[in-house]
Amino acid sequence: MAIKGRVLSVASECVPLLKTGGLADVVGALPAALAAEGWDMRVLMPAYRPLLPLLDGGAVLWQSDDLFGGPGRVVATSKGGMPVLLLDAPHLYDREGGPYSGPEGDWADNPQRFAALSWAGAMIMRDGLADDWHPDILHAHDWQAGFAPAYMAYEGMEQPSVLTIHNIAFQGYASPALLAALRLPAHQFHADALEYYGGISSLKAGLVTARKITTVSPTYAEELMRPAFGMGLEGVIHARAADVSGVLNGVDTEIWSPETAATPYSLRSFKGKAAARAALCDEFGLEVPGPLALIISRLTDQKGIDLIPAAIPDFIAGGGGLLVLGSGDPALEGAMQALAEAYPGRVAVRIGYDEALSQRMFAGGDAVLVPSRFEPCGLTQMYGLRYGTLPVVSAVGGLADTVITANPAALAVGAATGITFAPTDTVALGQALARLLTLYADQKTWAKMMRTAMRQPVGWETSAATYAALYDSLR
Ligand code: ADP
Repeated sequence: MAIKGRVLSVASECVPLLKTGGLADVVGALPAALAAEGWDMRVLMPAYRPLLPLLDGGAVLWQSDDLFGGPGRVVATSKGGMPVLLLDAPHLYDREGGPYSGPEGDWADNPQRFAALSWAGAMIMRDGLADDWHPDILHAHDWQAGFAPAYMAYEGMEQPSVLTIHNIAFQGYASPALLAALRLPAHQFHADALEYYGGISSLKAGLVTARKITTVSPTYAEELMRPAFGMGLEGVIHARAADVSGVLNGVDTEIWSPETAATPYSLRSFKGKAAARAALCDEFGLEVPGPLALIISRLTDQKGIDLIPAAIPDFIAGGGGLLVLGSGDPALEGAMQALAEAYPGRVAVRIGYDEALSQRMFAGGDAVLVPSRFEPCGLTQMYGLRYGTLPVVSAVGGLADTVITANPAALAVGAATGITFAPTDTVALGQALARLLTLYADQKTWAKMMRTAMRQPVGWETSAATYAALYDSLR
C-alpha cells in the first residue's frame, strides 16, 4: 500500500518495552494497525535504564548537546519485532526505579524529564531524522508528551498535532519557577495557555495547542467536559469541543482468544467453555448453580469494588457465585476476603496480579463485573465480550460504548451483549445482578447473547481506521 503519511508518536511507555498501564498497550499496538491503513508511524520514548541494552548497534538518528542539562540522542532499535526510537539521555533516564518515580516518590525532575521527550519530538518534527524520515503529524500521549504540541506551536511550526488523553487524573504539574528552564515562553503563562492553578500543567499546554484532541472512548470524551469527570480541566476541554473526539482502544485478539484457551471453544461449540468452567470451579473449590461472575481488577474505589459487599448477598441467594482476582487498596482486599469466608463454595478470592489466571477465568466464567465510577475505555469488558463472558458494567466511559444492554428491544433484535447499569451505586448494581440471574436462567437467550458478544469487533482494526481517518482529515 502506498504510504499516506508519517506520524511521530511520542509517549512515555510502549509494549513490549515498558508498561505501567493501558497507555503502553495503545502506543505499542497502533504502529502495526496503522500500517494496514497506509500510515507510517514511529514511536519515540525514553531510554530508561532497563532499555539501555537495546541501544547497542542501533542507528543514531538525532542528537543534541544540551537536552535539558546534558546530551541526548535518538537511537533506532527494536524489541520483540516492535521498532522504536529511544531517547537516550542518561542524566534524565538512566537511574534505578520506575519511569515516573523512585524510592522517594515521583522524580523531582519529572517536568524536565518529560519536557525533554516532548522537545525531542518537536525538533524531529522540525528537522526530521538522519535517515531522511520526515514526519507529517505528531501524536502526543498524555501529560508526558503534552509539551510537544506546545513547543511546535511556540516555535511556529505548521504541522498538525494530536493529543490523546488516556487518563485525565495525571496532569503534569510543574512549578512556575521552571518556565524558562522548560523552554516555555513567559508570555504564554496565563489562564488561556500554560497556567494552571498558579503553576504549569503540561497536559493543559497540550490541550490548548494540539490541533486535535482525542480520548479513548466517545462517552469519556463527553464526560471530560463535565466537572464530575474533567478533574479541573473540563473548561479547557469544553472550549476545544469542536476538536475533541473519542476513539475506542482495541485488544489483541490473538492473545485474547477462546480458540487458544486450554480447552478451546468458538462460536460453533461452547463445550470447551463448560470444561474451562468446571476446571476453574475445581481449582477454587466453587460449586455454583447459577452464573459464575468474575472480578479481575485493581481493587480501588475507581473500580467500584466497595459496592460489591452490599450487592452480593442477594446474588448468592439466587444461585450466583463470584471469583475475584485483584490487588490494591488493603481495605478492599480485606472486604473481598471476608466475602470468601462468608460464602465458602460460592465466593473465592485471589489477591495478586496473574495474567495467566485471568485468561483461565475469562474462559471459564459466565459474566465479568465492572462497576467502575469512571472508566476512560476499559479492557476487561472487551476481553469478556471476546470470551462470551458477558460484561455487567456501569454505564460510564468506554463501558457504555462497548456493551449493549439486554433490554427487551436489544434482545428482540439479537443485539444484546451484556448488562449496563446507572448510576454507579449499590442499588443499581444489585438490580443488574438480579437481571443477570434472570437472563442466565434462560439458557437459550444467554447462548445467543454469548454469540453476539463474541462477534463484536474488539480488535485494533476499527480503532486504527478511526485514527487514520483523523490523520487523513489533517493532511
Ligand atoms: P485500568 O487500566 O484502569 O486498570 P483496564 O480495564 O483498562 O483498567 O485495564 C486493566 C487490565 O489489567 C485488564 O486487562 C485486566 O484484565 C488486567 N488486570 C487487572 N488486575 C489484574 C490482576 N490482578 N491480574 C491479572 N490481570 C489484571
